Amino acid sequence: MASGVAIQQHARHFSGSQSADEFTLNPLLNLLTNTLVLHQTIPYLPISSLLNLAATSPSFHDLLLRRTPGVFRHLDLTRVKTAQFEIDGGIDHGGEVWRNVQVDENLTEDDFYSGPLRGIIQSIRRRDILHHVQTLVLDGLSVTAEFCNDILVDPTLRVRILSIRDVKNLNERKLMQSLRYVCRSTRPDDTPRLKGLYVFGARDAPDLTASSPTGQNGTARASSNISIGWNHKSQHALKESFRAEGDDWYHRRGRIIGRHITDGWAETLLDCREMIRFDAVLCTGPRHQNSPAFGKVPVMSGGTAPGVDSPWGVATFALGGCASCGSSPEGFTEYGDSPAEQLPLLAPVPLHSSTIKAATCPNPNSGSGTGKETHKFIPRCLECIRERYCFSCDQWWCESCYQVPSRQELSAQHVHIVDQTDGLLDHELAALEPPNVKVRKGYCLNCHPQSTERRPGIRNPFPP
Ligand SMILES: [Zn+2]
Ligand SMILES: [Zn+2]
Ligand SMILES: [Zn+2]
Repeated sequence: MASGVAIQQHARHFSGSQSADEFTLNPLLNLLTNTLVLHQTIPYLPISSLLNLAATSPSFHDLLLRRTPGVFRHLDLTRVKTAQFEIDGGIDHGGEVWRNVQVDENLTEDDFYSGPLRGIIQSIRRRDILHHVQTLVLDGLSVTAEFCNDILVDPTLRVRILSIRDVKNLNERKLMQSLRYVCRSTRPDDTPRLKGLYVFGARDAPDLTASSPTGQNGTARASSNISIGWNHKSQHALKESFRAEGDDWYHRRGRIIGRHITDGWAETLLDCREMIRFDAVLCTGPRHQNSPAFGKVPVMSGGTAPGVDSPWGVATFALGGCASCGSSPEGFTEYGDSPAEQLPLLAPVPLHSSTIKAATCPNPNSGSGTGKETHKFIPRCLECIRERYCFSCDQWWCESCYQVPSRQELSAQHVHIVDQTDGLLDHELAALEPPNVKVRKGYCLNCHPQSTERRPGIRNPFPP
């Protein structure tokens, strides 16, 4: 194998005065001096591995900390043990939790919950590394709104992409205030530096690899950390291959955002839309003022009580074209065609680039393979698909093609049906539905449970 040859060459070259450690390490040094290999490998290595490696010899120190720009561009702290915040579940991580927190009577809630993370960030800052970070991944950690605000406004930082999916102790309303503040019309030039925020989606599945081993000497640890890095690389490759089956939004249909959307996010997305991109987009249904179809088609609220319509909504569903017309009143959101600010950030967070272009670009190999028209979707909130969308087969009917019967019409029909169901067969019951109804209780007529069994208890899987 080529690496065997390389080791032999190094054995000849470094025989004599070189120590056994350097002999072992130099093939690795040789490998990592290749810029392509280095840049492909580095994002998979935890910062502790990089620092350990840099500490093993002056050559590695020079390579990683002096000569190579971008070594710390992508900083993922989700696997750093001391960043974890454990205070419940009977596990006493008190020492770790408090080690980085100044304990006094002036301790604030933010000091307490962001203590572990702030401790790490201070340590990274002291090493003159923090200002190189452009992608910061904090998924699942204890991340306060105050901490996010500091990232947003600190003039010494250059974080362009921040991922805080599934974090704990985050006051979302405070975060929204910070985001709207940094995007205010009177903001200084070149701000905000943040260009992308992953906050709505679920964090990537945790890696299966064990955490880095302890109790080894520097050389062995560096080598094993590299191999852990390669393990992560192959796991990431696996995730990428899953992604090849389709990106969220563009190629998956149905619910994309599973979590509850706190009030205020839609307005925040709107206020930030020219500056910061998110892993969700605004709903384009014609009920909303941002929709190209606003005011152009008659819109019933689909059973919503009057007065709760929002001028804007965060889309949580991705739809294909309407089952009747193949499109929608507002048209598709299409990669390469729609304005860039309407495109969502896609998971996973890109490893080899910190640009919005890389984070929003759908996998070109996904979809049905007939070109760019496959990279499109219709973003909708739940209210805009209520009784239009079938949760079983993903078909839906748009506002141009189908008017959802009013609540009064449906309840009158329900009474009518219940009064007459005794002794009727299924096809006779189906005939009692109003002829124009497409979706009942979240199912289209093909998928509705009544087509197989008609019992009162099973009729309402999606209560209004
Ligand atoms: Zn239609
Ligand atoms: Zn909507
Ligand atoms: Zn269906």
